[in-house]
Formats: sequence, structure tokens, C-alpha cells
Amino acid sequence: MNLVRGPYHEGADTLLHGEFGAFPSKGSRYALSLTQTALHIQRLVPKPDTDQRTVVPLAEVVGCHTLRSRAPADRVAYFSVYAYPLKKRKVAVGSGRGRQRAARTFQVDGADDYEKNRAVAEKWAAAIKCLVLGIPISSETDIAPSLLPRRRRLLLLINPFGGRGLALQWCQTHVLPMITEADISFNLIQTERRNHARDLVKDINLADWDGIVAVSGDGLLYEVLNGLMERSDWEEAVRMPVGILPCGSGNALAGAINCKAGLEQALGLELLLNCAMLLCHAAVTPLDLVAVTTASGARCFSCLSVAWGFVSDVDIESEKYRHMGAARFTLGTLVRLASLNTYRGRLSYLPAADATAHRPISRSITVAPNGCLPLQRLPLHRALSDMGLCEERHALQGAELAPAPCPSPGSPPPCSASALPPPSFSFQPLPGQLLAGGVGEAQVRGPPDELLVPLGEPVPGSWVTVENDFVLVLAIYPSHLGADLHTAPFARFDDGLIHLCFIRAGISRAALMRLFLAMEKGSHFEQECPHLTHVPVRAFRLEPLTRKGILTVDGERVEYGPIQGQVHPGLACLITGIDRLKSATG
Ligand code: ADP
Ligand code: MG
Repeated sequence: MNLVRGPYHEGADTLLHGEFGAFPSKGSRYALSLTQTALHIQRLVPKPDTDQRTVVPLAEVVGCHTLRSRAPADRVAYFSVYAYPLKKRKVAVGSGRGRQRAARTFQVDGADDYEKNRAVAEKWAAAIKCLVLGIPISSETDIAPSLLPRRRRLLLLINPFGGRGLALQWCQTHVLPMITEADISFNLIQTERRNHARDLVKDINLADWDGIVAVSGDGLLYEVLNGLMERSDWEEAVRMPVGILPCGSGNALAGAINCKAGLEQALGLELLLNCAMLLCHAAVTPLDLVAVTTASGARCFSCLSVAWGFVSDVDIESEKYRHMGAARFTLGTLVRLASLNTYRGRLSYLPAADATAHRPISRSITVAPNGCLPLQRLPLHRALSDMGLCEERHALQGAELAPAPCPSPGSPPPCSASALPPPSFSFQPLPGQLLAGGVGEAQVRGPPDELLVPLGEPVPGSWVTVENDFVLVLAIYPSHLGADLHTAPFARFDDGLIHLCFIRAGISRAALMRLFLAMEKGSHFEQECPHLTHVPVRAFRLEPLTRKGILTVDGERVEYGPIQGQVHPGLACLITGIDRLKSATG
């Protein structure tokens, strides 16, 4: 058990208080009190030496189940609380702290008959679940399972090739057991090819789902969002909560979600467990999308970034180190630093009048008239082979308790008496989710880009244009460019801003390296590097004047040439879990 120990705490904010036995029993007894933020557990028997109690922050709790004994005559009822606290010590060098499951089962035995004990267990489970899901309750509330919404249904889309190819293994070992404890029912579909996820979400029945979760890197979420935007009912479809369980090599959005929750920066499995825990908490945040148009007129919806120069070069060139996971970007950065390129380009933007820039525009930048350039186009990169659906998986470890009968819509349904808790894993595609094979260019849908004029026309007079030699140009919307790249610390998911960052030529390799190293902590703007500029904008246009280069949208390569975009504030809906973790864990 690795629960936080805190001082004794009896406040006016206590929602429930009770004295229970434990399971396995061993004769110990506990006093439990539930507040808005934590479950306080005080051992009564055997009497502890100190007055310390165990505090389980509800931010780290994912669910609570009621159970009953296998012996039908047994009058006691049980409830289990499932928490995922941080491990106390680092398990190995570089592996971070990580989370560890800590389940505690309490025995409700105050009454002479089972029904009364069961009602108490259900009341506790309902209260804990309400708090986990952010359903407001107070000491005045008549707490009952009927307060809970129906079981959440999530569509999990998993890219078996994301990152180091561990997505499926991590999902089965860590994610599915956790979300089952959170009473989330799900359908898990393995993508078989690029754009499979995009095609799947085009045909789903929206009413069947409470959310769509990409179990992969940022690329799969990009597919999901664009698939939703390609539907004729895009306006409704894009409000479907989308989430991410980071299993890719580029996990920027997961890094931003982790940071927003107040959690320490994490990578790999630690980040995945943080995000899975947050997913169980269900809260959503509006997410800005940027409509991006490229030279051929293709339009897509981006949730992360548009990059040119150093960043996109590293992203695409490091594909060959994919087996290294997130470390591929570190190696790619070093390789790129050794042969540093600069790119001439014209950058235009519509400043966001009411937002603050982190570096004023330097005087050395020339303001130039606008024009359109004839540029070569490059084909889209990479196609990987298909892979079949995986086998079904059943049953977690057995136990001596069985799920109690649960009449409420928010509780798990009764299931066979053999397993605890009751998983219902399914890996089959749903009926009606057939692939839209052989379709041509997707129809352009979504809100009009009222701030943009066609790429062939000069930008409006209210825009600013700079022409320069750049090391990189990056339009980023959330706070992170990678799980450990806190590139725009001031950014929020719904600030309605594109954070235009650029580094001009003339910067030394050492200074560039310092910037990237500082970016891990998000302190790079404090270096006051004269070559680095940040401007918050609503729209931008980038016209490369160097003939060869790489442009990426959300880390995926797009055609090289003029590109522009405008923000659509809060268009999508992101599952971010909780905001209050810091205060809850103290
Ligand atoms: P990573 O962060 O490791 O790059 P992503 O989720 O971004 O992981 O996925 C990388 C690319 O793989 C994306 O462009 C995505 O569209 C594509 N993709 C998704 N599923 C498959 C699949 N089954 N086979 C091949 N490519 C896929
Ligand atoms: Mg933003």
C-alpha cells in the first residue's frame, strides 16, 4: 500500500463518516471519512502508535465497486476503492516514479441484514463515484446510486505501430483493467492502416459513444478529429469528447493534459498511467482547432502545430529511429544541430490584439509585400502494412468476492460469479463501421475561415508580414510540442490563440541547444534569446522561399509550399480529467 499519509483531519466538509471492517479481515477496523477531495482512513483496531491517518486523494481514485460474499447467508457487504497513487521511490534510473494500483476493500457490517449493509456500501460507492466524475454533492445531498449518469461508453482506437509498438501490450496490461474499475465500457479497435481511424469515425453513430480515445501518438487523434470534421453533421460530431492515451513517440497533447492536471512531467508508461487516470475522471475542456490550407487547396483541422525548418526536419528525419520511442527526437535534434539549415521565408500573421507576446518583434526583420510562389510539391510520406484484429481477452485475477447486485445505472452490471471486477473486453469492429475504400479527396466541411483570403491573394492589410532567414517557424496551440517539450507554457487548450514562435538565422548552435534543453522545463523564454520571437495570433500564412524543405501539420508531413491557417476557438472537446490535482494532493 502506497498511500499518502497526512495529519488527522476532521472538517465541516465531511460528506460521509463510518466505521468498517476490512477485507481480507484479520480483525482490523477503520474509521472512514469522505470529503470533497479525499478519503481519510484511520485505523482503529489494532490501535496505531500515532494519530496519523491515510489520505487517499480522490484525484488518484478511478472508481469504487460494491461486492458481496459468496456465502449467500453472509449479512455483510463490501465496497472496494481503486486508487493509483505514485510509487514512493523511483523504480529505476530514468524510469520516473510511476503509479501503482492500490485497491482497498471495506466490510460494511453494522446492520443485522444484508440489504441494510448493502445500502450503506452503495451509498459510499455512489458518493465516491460522484466525486470522481465531478458530480456535485454536499453533506445535504441524499446520496444514492441514482445520482450517477449511465456507464460511460468509450471507443478506443489503437495504433499498433505507434511509438515503439507497445500500445496494445500497455493497453491490455494497464489501461483496460483501470478503466474497467472506473465502470467505463468500451470497444477497442486496432487500426489496420493509416486513415483507418479517420474512416471509422466518419460512420459511427454518435449517440452510441460518450467519447473517442486515441491510444497512440498525436497522429491518430489528428485522424479522429479530421474524420469527425468530414461528416455532414460535423458541427455535432466535433463536440464528441476526444481523448488521448499516449502510446506514440510524439505525445504532445498528452503532455499538455498531464501538465494542466498539475502532474509532474512524465514520459512513457508513467505518462500513460497519468492520462488513463485522468480519463477516468471524465471532465472535458473546449479545444481550439486550426483550419490549415495548403497550396493545392487541401484543408485540414489541426490540434497541435504547423512546423517548418528545424522542428519538422527533426520530426520527419527521426522516423528512422522510431524504435527508440520518444528518444528519437533527442537523437534527431542532435543530428540536425550538427548540420543546421536555415530557410528563407515570408511569414504573415494577424496579431491577437488582446494577448501578450513573449518577445517583441525585432527591428532586424524586414517587412515585405506579399505574393505567391511557385513551389515544388512533395508526395505525402509513409504507408505501412495492415495488421489483423487481436484476440479477445477475458477475466482479471480471481478473488473470493463477487460483485454485489447493482440496481443503479452507474454501477457495473451483475456478471458471472468468477471474476473481480467484471471486464467485458471486446476487440471486434462494430457493425456499420466498414471502411470507406477508394474515396477521393474528402469533402471540405467545417466553419468558414473568415480571417483568411485564398493563398493566391495578398494577405489583408491588418496583417503583419516579415521576411527573413529562419531556423524554424512553429505555429503551436497547446502548451506542449512533445511530452517533455513545454514549448508554449502560457498556452491553454481554449485560449483562441495560435502561438507563433520563430527563431531567426544567426543563432549559434550552442544557443539553439540551450533553448531546446530549457524547453523541457518551459524556461526557454527566460533566456531572452534575441533570435527567438513569440507572437500570439489568430491567423497566419507561411510562404517558404527556399525551394526544398519539410512542412508538418501535427507532426505529419504535408505538401511543401505556401500554407496558412486560422484558429477556430473551442471547436472540439478534449477529455482532460481534472484540474484540481495539485490542491487535492497538497
Ligand atoms: P507516433 O507518435 O508514434 O508517430 P501516431 O499515432 O502519431 O504515433 O501514428 C503515426 C502515424 O501512423 C499516423 O500518421 C497515423 O495516421 C498512422 N497510423 C495509424 N494507424 C496505423 C496503422 N495501423 N498502420 C500504419 N499507420 C497507421
Ligand atoms: Mg491554445
